[in-house]
Amino acid sequence: MNFTLPELPYALNALAPVISEETLNFHYGKHHQTYVTNLNNLIKGTEFENADLDSIVKKADGPIFNNAAQTWNHNFYFLSLTPNNGSTPSAALLKAINAGWGSLDAFKDEFNKAAVSLFGSGWAWLVKDADSKLSIVKESNAGNPLTHGLIPILTFDVWEHAYYVDYRNRRADHVAALWNIIDWDVISARF
Ligand code: MN
Repeated sequence: MNFTLPELPYALNALAPVISEETLNFHYGKHHQTYVTNLNNLIKGTEFENADLDSIVKKADGPIFNNAAQTWNHNFYFLSLTPNNGSTPSAALLKAINAGWGSLDAFKDEFNKAAVSLFGSGWAWLVKDADSKLSIVKESNAGNPLTHGLIPILTFDVWEHAYYVDYRNRRADHVAALWNIIDWDVISARF
């Protein structure tokens, strides 16, 4: 299957100042595009040539896994964002968050800690298990919770390319600001 970049439901300058147009031009237009292009080239003539993206992420390893998972992760990340703040978690999601962490703010604190303490490049994830119990997991590099049988709900990209243009080394400031552009309607629908 030939993969393509997802269309973004917002303009490239719409997420500023949390994420600048310059960052999106590189992060979406260059980095994300490169993962997609590499994936399309790598799967030609392999068992994954006609597979869907979830299947490749679950079964592949090496460069095919890395580019498939980075394609998946960025699709998921960019479609979690919105310039229209004001959305809130659904009642069902909020109940599960409160059950796990006591409050939405306490959950955000724990999620921020995971994102900031992740060593090197990777992703912080909110996931659910088969019983819809939520947890926060950290994945290095291209890691994706699907490979552990978990369902992704939310992710923050903490590769330096996600924030270095706008925040330099201040990953914690970037992570804290991201909550202002999270589309809780999208996140809630995944739960
Ligand atoms: Mn990225």
